[in-house]
Amino acid sequence: MIQLPLSKLSNVGTTIFSQMTQLANEYEAINLSQGFPDFLPDTELLDHVNHFIQKGFNQYAPLGGMMPLKEEIARKIENSHKAVYHPDSEITVTAGGTQAIFTAIATFVKKEDEVIIFEPAYDCYEPTVELFGGIVKRFEMKAPDYEIDWATVKDLVSEKTKMIILNNPNNPSGKILKENDLQELIKLVKDTSILILSDEVYENIVFDGKQHLSICQYPELKERSLLVASFGKLFHVTGWKIGYCAAPKNLTDEFRKVHQFNVFCVNTPIQLALAEYMKNDEHYLHLNTFFQEKRNFLRKGLAGTSFGLLDCEGTYFQALTYDKISDKSDFDFASELTINHKVASVPFSSFYKNKRNDHVIRLCFAKKQETLERAIENLSRL
Ligand code: GLN
Repeated sequence: MIQLPLSKLSNVGTTIFSQMTQLANEYEAINLSQGFPDFLPDTELLDHVNHFIQKGFNQYAPLGGMMPLKEEIARKIENSHKAVYHPDSEITVTAGGTQAIFTAIATFVKKEDEVIIFEPAYDCYEPTVELFGGIVKRFEMKAPDYEIDWATVKDLVSEKTKMIILNNPNNPSGKILKENDLQELIKLVKDTSILILSDEVYENIVFDGKQHLSICQYPELKERSLLVASFGKLFHVTGWKIGYCAAPKNLTDEFRKVHQFNVFCVNTPIQLALAEYMKNDEHYLHLNTFFQEKRNFLRKGLAGTSFGLLDCEGTYFQALTYDKISDKSDFDFASELTINHKVASVPFSSFYKNKRNDHVIRLCFAKKQETLERAIENLSRL
């Protein structure tokens, strides 16, 4: 038999999110693993989609996105962060955050370029960098605080460093970057040509009155950054796979050269529906409170259990330690929790290259009250 070549990612398995969701389905467990809401989006938004489909907006959009949506995105960024992006030349609508990240890396990372990431890291960064021949340099943030030691990060920088990838608020740790982190980053990249890819898909989900600090608030960073955001997280529609990349014109021009051959454009009626819906800022201004209530409900419910609760400043993920319950690896523990206690989670080791095991798992609380109640009940039995 002929030996056909393996793919360039032959060393990579199926993502942990798909694995855990599959396990949850197989064992009929409550799925708090993959991050997606189990409640319906606003019917007003659904009505807008229906309207634009029925009205005949069903053909290709311009490759950068529909103008009304790009205008609303620019308005949102300016209102939230006082940063100005030109809607037509600096904002590109993408098929979700992951495509924006993939395209940004594909656009700029060449063979042997180095890319710095912070672990625990969202799972698509490293394989995408490697797909284009780049080399990943990693800084490990550790439980329980997941702080960044910038002096160590500095040692990772070389003349080959092409890009730094940030994820703020961080999935899975739920930590946010502080003013000091951004000031250290400014110092780090000053007088270099390092690009920043800032994955801020949870930007509107930050708790306890804390502020999300976007890369675009800092002119020294904005000029070299590609900012990625997601409507899936903003409006509870992760399955629509729609997001955007905001970047200065010179970077956007290059980004679109790849984007046009990657997806060309994103579906038209949903872009128009989102633009219409975004005219009312109320539709996202209370997201923090909405998710904070869910976080608090879960934390309160688990407070009396043997699980330990790590800080959760943002995202829709709560990190739990389970040292008092088991000394198994987090992967084994998460699998057993799904099979025997019917609650699916994600083990933190999947977000580290070396499978670092701090006995931490991640639960998604973007769920209906009754789902969270059932999960708390099961977890209380451990
Ligand atoms: N962002 C989601 C999470 O962190 C997963 C998305 C996916 O399944 N690729 O759970």
